[in-house]
Amino acid sequence: MLTPAIISPQDSQRRLPFPKHGIDVNFCRNPQCDLFAEPPDPFKKLGRPKGNTKPNYPRGKVIGSGDEKTFTCGACGQSSIVKNNGAVVDEYRRLRKRFQQEGPRDCCPADACANRNKPLSQHPELYRKSGRTAKGAQRWKCKTCLTSFSLGSRIRRQHRSNANRDVLWMITNGLPISKIGDFTGLCPRDVYRKIDFIYDRVIDHTANREGSF
Ligand SMILES: [Zn+2]
Ligand SMILES: [Zn+2]
Repeated sequence: MLTPAIISPQDSQRRLPFPKHGIDVNFCRNPQCDLFAEPPDPFKKLGRPKGNTKPNYPRGKVIGSGDEKTFTCGACGQSSIVKNNGAVVDEYRRLRKRFQQEGPRDCCPADACANRNKPLSQHPELYRKSGRTAKGAQRWKCKTCLTSFSLGSRIRRQHRSNANRDVLWMITNGLPISKIGDFTGLCPRDVYRKIDFIYDRVIDHTANREGSF
């Protein structure tokens, strides 16, 4: 027979939603704040043993209930709407699928070629150098089908890493991709690359944090 005591106290005492696939967007979203992107204590204070809370770490406040919750950062006072992590992951995956069908870029670009998904970085024997582009980037030629490709423009674009923080902030605040492009000067394709990059970083970060427990 089920009794209320069977419900885990931890489930009922969360004030913030569970992360989904390592993604938790419910942190302070003010890029200027020391606690930017630091996950706050997800539990309600009531009934928690003292040993589990970090002293001198501002908890902030969660007010409201259901879909109308707001988290206010304890350090900078900025409020943000508490989001469903699962919905963020779903939307991210939808976008990633739409804009990422091509596979690795440093490989033969010919769809029919056997080297199509064999990156230069892992199979250098499949390619040979073939001069330079007008902009000076190294050009490579596939030894199998003799199709040429270059990586120069891609590598240059990745130097704009200072936009990562801005992009993360805008995504978590629900800005459309077109607006993110306007603010950062990135084309939509680059915005999606940043999202991928940030996603991988978030996964790494979460894995490190959980590994250290
Ligand atoms: Zn803050
Ligand atoms: Zn080829």
